[in-house]
Amino acid sequence: MPFMESRRIVFDSDNSSIALHAATDASGAPNIQPLSNETVVANVEGVDDSDSDDDAPEAITASSALERTRAIEAEAAKAAEEQEAAAKRKRKQRDAKLREQAESSKRSRKRKRLNAAEDDSAEIHRDTASTTAAAENQGESNTNGLPIGAARRLEIPALLPEELLAAEPVTRLPTPPPGSGRDVATNQRLKSKQKLARLEKGAKPPKDVVKGPVRLRVTERENKLLPPKANKQSKSLRESLLHNGRNGRRQTMNKGFNRNRITVATYRRSLQDFITDQKHLPTVMGIESVPEKMLACQVVEYNAPYKIHQVPTPRDLGPYDMLVKTAVASLCHTDGMVSAGVFKTKLPCTASHEGSGTIAAVGSSVTDFKEGDRVMCGLMRNQCGICADCQGPENYSQYCANNDGAIGVNLDGAFADYVRIDSRTAAKLPDSVSFETAAPLACAGCTVWRGVLQADLKAKEWLAIVGSGGGLGHLGIQFAKALGLQVIGIDARDEGLELSRTAGADVVIDARKGNEAVVAEVHKVTNGAGADATVNVSDAKSAAATACAVTKMHGVMLQIAQLLTATPSPPPQPDEVSIPFVELIFRDIRVHGSLICSPTEARRMLAVVAEHHISVKTNAFNGLHEIPKLIELAHGGKMQGKGIVVVDEGQRGVRKGEGRV
Ligand SMILES: [Zn+2]
Ligand SMILES: [Zn+2]
Repeated sequence: MPFMESRRIVFDSDNSSIALHAATDASGAPNIQPLSNETVVANVEGVDDSDSDDDAPEAITASSALERTRAIEAEAAKAAEEQEAAAKRKRKQRDAKLREQAESSKRSRKRKRLNAAEDDSAEIHRDTASTTAAAENQGESNTNGLPIGAARRLEIPALLPEELLAAEPVTRLPTPPPGSGRDVATNQRLKSKQKLARLEKGAKPPKDVVKGPVRLRVTERENKLLPPKANKQSKSLRESLLHNGRNGRRQTMNKGFNRNRITVATYRRSLQDFITDQKHLPTVMGIESVPEKMLACQVVEYNAPYKIHQVPTPRDLGPYDMLVKTAVASLCHTDGMVSAGVFKTKLPCTASHEGSGTIAAVGSSVTDFKEGDRVMCGLMRNQCGICADCQGPENYSQYCANNDGAIGVNLDGAFADYVRIDSRTAAKLPDSVSFETAAPLACAGCTVWRGVLQADLKAKEWLAIVGSGGGLGHLGIQFAKALGLQVIGIDARDEGLELSRTAGADVVIDARKGNEAVVAEVHKVTNGAGADATVNVSDAKSAAATACAVTKMHGVMLQIAQLLTATPSPPPQPDEVSIPFVELIFRDIRVHGSLICSPTEARRMLAVVAEHHISVKTNAFNGLHEIPKLIELAHGGKMQGKGIVVVDEGQRGVRKGEGRV
């Protein structure tokens, strides 16, 4: 029913009131619908809820309601008219009041102005005329009715003087362009002269600040580019570099206020002095007794046999260099890589980075060593001392990338009568450690020693070594036992298992049984947990996975695999370490690598070797001329332990203790 008009009407009955919804549709036919009592609504104007709630509501017809509505509307209109009239009256009153206020303020301003003018005129008269004349004039008015002071002020001429207005206008010539009247060449010359003068002047030093009798001296800003002072040692090193100088003369510093702090240029000069000083010879102790020629075994061509021949003895020692008369030198897997050109070594290069011997001469700045000391050669030479690794923890120093290289790799090595080494990476040999033991320790020993240290285990904890029967492994077992650890040796060769037992492993497991059996055996001895840490020294492809499998949850696996024999290129050592992701993700095995060790760690290793009579299983050859035989044995795979060459028979037999192996 879209066009319905509706009106709600309330009917009365005895006990209850009912409401009918009377509706008329478009055709006019009445349409009455009963409504429930709850939905009764009285929405006709003038009929409110209280009426419907009343017990006897008044009956209202449509016409009376309309009349009433009209009456109310008329009343409302009248009231609105009255209200409007009242507002209009109010507005008029307010306007009148505002006008009156404006008038009065205008009048008061005028009065004030006149009073001020009178005061001014009185002032002028006091200054210029006699006081009597001023008194006569007071209160008088001129023809305009203004006081005299105000009138005088108005007499000031409003126009410029006649002569100024009548004067001829002055015309000014335009400014000529710069440099006009000079030729181009002159202009350029002048310009460059000015520029040069500006450049030559340079940066001005800061000016002093003068405040009355006080003069404040301003220092130049400190150079922030200098390396940070990481610790006490590095500070003193830097200070000695900067202020004592390598050239002997002390660089003077201003006393009191440091007006001229050290500049980057001075610092660089100091470093340059340091570098050049190494090239000439200061006082080198003992060099006169060293022969000019020596025998050396060199790589002269990649992938070709070594050449054993006479070469000049390295007599040019830098301040921290030492010349060592080689006693024993040994062969390492890395030697095979040098021969194969893996390190792009500049040829010819004397082989072997594992050497031991007696000091023949020392550089001018060497204080820790003297002629005749027995030493184990360090590998690195001239580490920078200022990089993050040099300044960081001491056992990071071997990672310094700013060095001259390592002996036997980029510098001449130990397969020679004499070898030049850096005193800062060398280590003195305890009396009980023989040269034969010391030489293989220089690389292999240092590497496995740091590996065991990196495992960071406490006494009685379990360390597993995969490849325990090899050159590195049997040393690792001895080091771990010396540190009080319990050791599980894992190897895949009968000789390896035998060597592991001899070296002192608590448990020896044959890796040929398969991964599961190995893990089961490790779990049996470690209460089902696995080894606390594992060192992998085996170069077998599956060794890293085995090493992770035997390690306990969250344990550390140290990957330091390295072949101990020189092999033809390409080296069989795997380029990549392959570990199942399960070990890393689900068992949180942490994998670390390790590179040789720092000088301090090397010295501690030698002390442990001496104390625990640790010795290295070696294959000894006598003299540099036997190196081809050693290489042949290494290539044949028959090598047991480390292949060493006794370069100088005369230096043997100094040790006092005997090793177990
Ligand atoms: Zn460095
Ligand atoms: Zn090595």
